[in-house]
Amino acid sequence: TQRSFVLIKPDAVRRGLVGAVLARFEAKGLRLVTLQLRQVTGEESDQHYAEHVDRPFYPPLRTFITSGPSVALVVEGDEAIEVVRALNGATDGRKAAPGTIRGDLSLSNRENLVHGSDSPESAAREIAFWFPELG
Ligand code: ATP
Repeated sequence: TQRSFVLIKPDAVRRGLVGAVLARFEAKGLRLVTLQLRQVTGEESDQHYAEHVDRPFYPPLRTFITSGPSVALVVEGDEAIEVVRALNGATDGRKAAPGTIRGDLSLSNRENLVHGSDSPESAAREIAFWFPELG
């Protein structure tokens, strides 16, 4: 079994899609380990997206991710990291396959509803950062 960190982004909260997104993870069979509504700060964004801070798309991403509450959670299950990324779909909602969260519900490259850890190393780092009590 494996754990993955998921952030349901402010666009999903604003659009009232938190339940719809969570339902997909639950229906797939992933278990919720912990879940919290939280306002991401600029400093938290910089740490979470450390690999992206120097990219041109980062300043608007930082503005977006801090623009309202998000839902941070950890899910658990067999190959949870890959399973979450498959459910999320490709980064750009316009390119993401129908049937995925982004493919069905997002028309944007930035406002793409959900983040999922991209590797076991990222998952360990992100879970320790967002939920130090789970360490
Ligand atoms: P996430 O890390 O959020 O799960 P991802 O792994 O599919 O998404 P990354 O390449 O890690 O995508 O980019 C992180 C986030 O930065 C994306 O989810 C998106 O919100 C934003 N982003 C990435 N590339 C672009 C871009 N070219 N233009 C605008 N926003 C972008």
